[in-house]
Amino acid sequence: MRYYILFGPPGAGKGTHASAIVENYSLKHISTGELLRAEIAAGTELGRQAKALIADGQLVPDSVVEGMIKNAFDTIKDVDGFLLDGFPRTLGQARDLDAMLSERGEEVSAILSIMIPDSLIYERIHHRAEIEGRADDASDETIRHRIKTYHDQTEPLIEYYKAAGKYHEVQGDSPVTEENRKRVLALVESVW
Ligand code: AMP
Repeated sequence: MRYYILFGPPGAGKGTHASAIVENYSLKHISTGELLRAEIAAGTELGRQAKALIADGQLVPDSVVEGMIKNAFDTIKDVDGFLLDGFPRTLGQARDLDAMLSERGEEVSAILSIMIPDSLIYERIHHRAEIEGRADDASDETIRHRIKTYHDQTEPLIEYYKAAGKYHEVQGDSPVTEENRKRVLALVESVW
């Protein structure tokens, strides 16, 4: 199995690129953010716990998202691999993912990083708020928190995966252009 990580700040276009990638490759797209929003919509206990943290732009506990990832690895078999989107988001999650995969005799295949400057993040998230109506896209304060959380807790993963020789970066675009989509697909092809 292949294990790709789609990486980047909030609003980098990860969801849009993920859709294009899974149209072209037999990979299961796992977005921890989408799974959490589904739990909230279904009114589960897990959703209730996650709701306030997400609305505030904070991360949910590692154990919660790791449980969802492990469940996906255990149950989804009929694909060539996984495209993880929004996970891992902390060094602890990255290390736990390595351990989870090594128990299966597997490893992370590559990190596909979509980079956009902070100045574009607001523009993209405001645009998305109009289309998708996500609660955590609604206020500038929440967006600011998510950007800070990204810089403090998620950005260190870049060095972690560079050290492992698995980090690949392309510039993102706002909105995602056809040329940008092709650039990301070319990156996937080059690391396949
Ligand atoms: P996303 O759709 O990836 O932007 O995720 C939306 C929100 O869900 C994030 O701001 C976090 O509150 C939460 N979340 C998603 N993935 C993770 C993760 N790997 N670790 C912790 N919290 C997460």
